[in-house]
Amino acid sequence: MGSVVLSLDAELGWGFHDLEDPPENRVESGRRGWSVMVDLLDEFDVPATWAVVGHLMLTDCDGRHADHPAPPGWFRRERGSWADREELRFGPDLVTDVLEADTDHEFASHSFSHVLFGDERTDRELASAELRRATEIADDWGQTVDSFIYPRNDVAHREVLAEYGVSAYRGKSPTRDGVRGVFDSTVRDQSMLVQPELDEYGLVNVPASQFLFGFEGPARTVAESIWTDPMLEVARRGIDEAARSDGVFHMWLHPNNLTSERDDRRMRAILAHLERRRSAGDLTVETMGEVAERVHRSRGIGAGGTDERAAAGTN
Ligand SMILES: [Zn+2]
Ligand SMILES: [Zn+2]
Repeated sequence: MGSVVLSLDAELGWGFHDLEDPPENRVESGRRGWSVMVDLLDEFDVPATWAVVGHLMLTDCDGRHADHPAPPGWFRRERGSWADREELRFGPDLVTDVLEADTDHEFASHSFSHVLFGDERTDRELASAELRRATEIADDWGQTVDSFIYPRNDVAHREVLAEYGVSAYRGKSPTRDGVRGVFDSTVRDQSMLVQPELDEYGLVNVPASQFLFGFEGPARTVAESIWTDPMLEVARRGIDEAARSDGVFHMWLHPNNLTSERDDRRMRAILAHLERRRSAGDLTVETMGEVAERVHRSRGIGAGGTDERAAAGTN
């Protein structure tokens, strides 16, 4: 029996603040999508890993962050065109909704200000500062950061995650995004399951299986008119595969991907299918943190990544 993991990159404006021309419908859908997801996950009692941009948990800031070693201009939009758009830069109300939801979600980190870790301008100092601020703010909220999701899945500076006590991160998907991934799964019958792996820093990589909104625009509309929602079809296949065999089906999205009711319907259908499979006793739902704990346990490694074999002198 396998398991299903659902992770969310919760970021509001921070997912786009560095872009020349942020996609308006996504930017403006961040709050709506967030609330829809909290409600849907409660309705189907599906615990998810919510990776939150740390800045959202502040109630105000000076818009400069002079003590943060980000490249010049990194916080420019905050002081510029979004100066009076607090609802894109702060979201303690929404984070509270996640923490107080009936469902027992995992609180996780999506960095402090959505810095791209693999960017050449992101040195070790900046990576550390992003982790330090994110974990400090989490601590102010009485939370720990056990799982980390890299902004734009740009995996780098893993040793810094380990330093800050992180146990798990979401690695790259072996499946191609978008229409090619749909083809791989449905036509080529390629597996959608992933295997979590312990890396050389003691971190557990919980790779993504499928981005749930990788097939949008006119192609999606055409596909839906002649067939069913292709992403729903792929998600069903992944969930069914997890029910048949060992391994993890790890789907992910941004709350801001839910730009319309059509997107809400996709998520509802996926969660309803997942709930049916789980009720039948075919699979479990895990958070990324729970996957990491399971992997650590199976390797004889205690919580927080301490290696009990090393402590016992057998390693
Ligand atoms: Zn700020
Ligand atoms: Zn992001």
